[in-house]
Amino acid sequence: MYKGIEASRGIGIGSICLIVEHDLSFESKHIEDTEAEKARFNSAIETFKTETAAMADNIRKNIGPKEAEIMEGHLAMIADPTMAGEMTKMIEAGQCAEAAVTAVCDMFIGMFSKMEDDMMRQRASDISDIKISLLKLLLGIEDVDISTVAPGTILVAHDLTPSMTSQIVKENVVGIITEVGGKTSHSAILARALEIPAVLSVPNITEIVKDKDSAIVDGTEGEVYINPDGEKISQYVIKREEFIKAQAELKNFMGKETLTADGTPVELFCNIGTPKDAKKAVECDGEGIGLFRSEFLFMDRPHLPTEDEQFEAYKEAVETMGGRTVIIRTLDIGGDKDIPYLGLEKEENPFLGYRAVRYCLANRETYKMQLRGILRASAFGKVKIMVPLVTCVEEVREVKALVEECKNELKAEGVAFDDKIEVGCMVETAAASLIADILAKEADFFSIGTNDLTQYTMSVDRGNANVAYLYSAFQPAVLRSIKNIIEAGNKAGITVGMCGEAAADPLMIPLLISFGLNEYSVNPVLVLTARSIISKWSKAEADALAEKVLSLTTEKEIVALLKAEAK
Ligand code: PEP
Ligand code: MG
Repeated sequence: MYKGIEASRGIGIGSICLIVEHDLSFESKHIEDTEAEKARFNSAIETFKTETAAMADNIRKNIGPKEAEIMEGHLAMIADPTMAGEMTKMIEAGQCAEAAVTAVCDMFIGMFSKMEDDMMRQRASDISDIKISLLKLLLGIEDVDISTVAPGTILVAHDLTPSMTSQIVKENVVGIITEVGGKTSHSAILARALEIPAVLSVPNITEIVKDKDSAIVDGTEGEVYINPDGEKISQYVIKREEFIKAQAELKNFMGKETLTADGTPVELFCNIGTPKDAKKAVECDGEGIGLFRSEFLFMDRPHLPTEDEQFEAYKEAVETMGGRTVIIRTLDIGGDKDIPYLGLEKEENPFLGYRAVRYCLANRETYKMQLRGILRASAFGKVKIMVPLVTCVEEVREVKALVEECKNELKAEGVAFDDKIEVGCMVETAAASLIADILAKEADFFSIGTNDLTQYTMSVDRGNANVAYLYSAFQPAVLRSIKNIIEAGNKAGITVGMCGEAAADPLMIPLLISFGLNEYSVNPVLVLTARSIISKWSKAEADALAEKVLSLTTEKEIVALLKAEAK
């Protein structure tokens, strides 16, 4: 069995089609006739645009408009004068087109791939796709045609780019296995949209398998079996049937209220990274936005976004949500999210340093631009402001004072906004958790950021693989912290939400019901699963389970018990 990342759920059983990688190496040479080189480059760009537009069309027809946005995004990136302009400048300075494309794309890939936010990291792989496509055009390499594979095919590739995925005929491809990519990579997104089971990031799989090998892809568990025996196949045929039945049941939760088994309503919101993602939240039946990570606006351009640019972006998300709540988290940079143009100093301990609200309060004019943008968008729907990385009550007070200052300015300018806009805080540090009762008197709402809360409670860098074994929200320390935060919020009568990954974890959900969480904010694709899990637990059952869990002393025992009692 080979293990990878479960990227698109379901079971696929079939025969492998191995997609061989092309050699994209080239000799970097100095160019004398830069005009001719520019013409060669421009012609590659034009062909890229035509081919990409055709692929977008193909995806729109065969998969849907939402998925076509991936290719449209590629078109927009190449149309952006910054990228092509930089490449042209390098060619004018005597570089060959291949070298210019590689250097500029690698620079952007380097910048985006370091970011913590999955959506931002995805941009790195988009640019990598663009780079590969442009190099293939410049080097005259033909792409593999996967539209003609036989029914029952499992595609195996180093990476499955959106351009390759756009050729997939859904009826013929029953599984996808790659060596790179994560849950939010575009190949994963497209695989999910096509409902094809996919396991990504299986090390060296293209060297392990041969064309026509038989295989099982378990996209739910992230497991792959090559040349399985008859017994294994029979076992997975049953699993496949069970999965198909469960999927059909999940669709019944579309358009339904989110209720526990004993009828208590809770809110089920979505986490988004761009205003466009709000559409996805609506399509997935999200009831609002519980976390709009506003960093993207600051990261996808070479300068600070203006107040107007921010206002337009927030307004787009707010209007898409049509009256449903949109919680906009103010700039959370620092840590592992660097924005080169801000010129922040390198720090020894960036996660403990100049990050998020600490940066914002030290750069008030920049922060006010964002707060004014959010306030202006609040005239178009139900908006809330959320402050990241709070550690003491003064930070909340200072942000609230700045919000008041912005409100007064806008009033004087005759600009509309929601005067009753709520200002809440993320509870994602050990300090904030310990003073949750104090913060609850100052904040209008809480949202628990379990990704950071786990990191800061367990003193474990969330990106460090060597200590990843400690990084679990099921650690007794983290669970006690979560319980304390929810109870403090409930006692003060403010809404308590959770926007960290744990909010969508089927094992965590009964504990959150027991602790009294009011709002769950999850990745849009997990809305129906979360709604279904929530519907299975009554408060009394959840309480009984939570009591047992809290009496245990290790993470291992807790997870084992939750798995044993999972519904
Ligand atoms: C969190 O820390 O749980 C969170 C939701 O924020 P981010 O992952 O963006 O730090
Ligand atoms: Mg966080």
